[in-house]
Amino acid sequence: MFTCDNCDTRYEREDQLQYLFPNIPNLLQRLDPGGTVPVGECPKCGALVYPEDQPVRVLVVVEGGLVQDVLADKPGVEVKVLDKDVEGVEEQEIVAVVGENYTLWGTLQRHDITIAPVLVEAAYR
Ligand SMILES: [Zn+2]
Repeated sequence: MFTCDNCDTRYEREDQLQYLFPNIPNLLQRLDPGGTVPVGECPKCGALVYPEDQPVRVLVVVEGGLVQDVLADKPGVEVKVLDKDVEGVEEQEIVAVVGENYTLWGTLQRHDITIAPVLVEAAYR
């Protein structure tokens, strides 16, 4: 989905827009340095239209109760695994993860991400 920066009209497809990037009139004067690249121009009000943020999808692979892998459909995802099984763990290794509604106790383990868009997508079908 794409949203107009001015009138908030939402568009499903690029071909619903007036002009498409990079063929937007006066584009260089209308862009902010380092800003998001627009998709096109709104046919209703002429303002720039930007892509909506898509959710990041994550697939956690568990086998025998243990996290085997964490897959994501795009890069830029960070993951930590909280292991609540603290039996035999030294007390200084146990951390509290404090949220608004819960406090969780366990040991935090860094976990790598495998970027696998097709596999993650398949899990959401
Ligand atoms: Zn508009």
